[in-house]
Amino acid sequence: MDWPRTPCYLNGEYLPLAEARISVLDRGFIFGDGVYEVVPVYYRRPFRFEHHLARFERSTREIGLASALDRAGWQSVVERLVAGTDAEHQFVYWQVTRGVARRDFAFPADTPPTVFAMTSPFTRPSREQREQGLRVVSRADERWLRCDIKSVSLLGAVLARQYATEQGADEVAQFRDGFLTEGSSSNLWAVRGGTVIAPPRDRLILEGIRYGFVAELCAALGVPFEVRRLTQAEVESCDELMLTSATREILPIVRLDGRPVGSGRPGPVYAKLRAAYDEAIEALRG
Ligand code: PMP
Repeated sequence: MDWPRTPCYLNGEYLPLAEARISVLDRGFIFGDGVYEVVPVYYRRPFRFEHHLARFERSTREIGLASALDRAGWQSVVERLVAGTDAEHQFVYWQVTRGVARRDFAFPADTPPTVFAMTSPFTRPSREQREQGLRVVSRADERWLRCDIKSVSLLGAVLARQYATEQGADEVAQFRDGFLTEGSSSNLWAVRGGTVIAPPRDRLILEGIRYGFVAELCAALGVPFEVRRLTQAEVESCDELMLTSATREILPIVRLDGRPVGSGRPGPVYAKLRAAYDEAIEALRG
């Protein structure tokens, strides 16, 4: 289907993406005052939808915004968008902003939120990415101190990803005060001595929906799993590094700052987690 003709949802209406319009006074545009969610859809079924809804509701609560639609409402928006597009796999993006108001920093009174959702075809990570792995560069984490909120204010992430692109890399590994936080739009995982190690779920990272999923997969596979802070030196000397996100699923990182990670090839822990991830997706095929 022609991309600008795909249906989207805006404030209660369904219309082609190319025809959707919002006001220049929308607080999402003016202040980045809103939150969003990205849900992968495999074989036309949302994956871990309840988890995405719960994270979204938390983000809205944390910024003092209502979730706009109840769970059944979000579900029906997602179902309708997916049904209106023929791609086998999609990802549904939605965002809610604090609405349209005179430009003033404090929250406006009695202003309805702007509610937008769209779907895009989802090309799963290629065989080449899975087999050859990704290159990552380290960078100081210059973002704010509420990275746990899935905010549409993404300038920090944009600058970080652009830095990676300019270095010929696929993603950044961000470090705050010498400790690993996450990528620009992904969670990062180190493997040392067979144990998967994840940075704590605090305000310095966004808890990916794949964060809990990887923890579950490790438990099911009998892979030791530990949550703790990781120094840059530990990350540089780990056996394996991986990243997870809705769109990149789970991928191995084979180079950090131009140097090989472990053997310089995707490792055995990655291979196990990748196989289990694919199995969970195939279970949706129905
Ligand atoms: N951290 C950040 C900063 C992100 O933007 C993302 C992607 N939304 C993630 C982690 C991974 O989250 P998820 O697994 O839900 O895609």
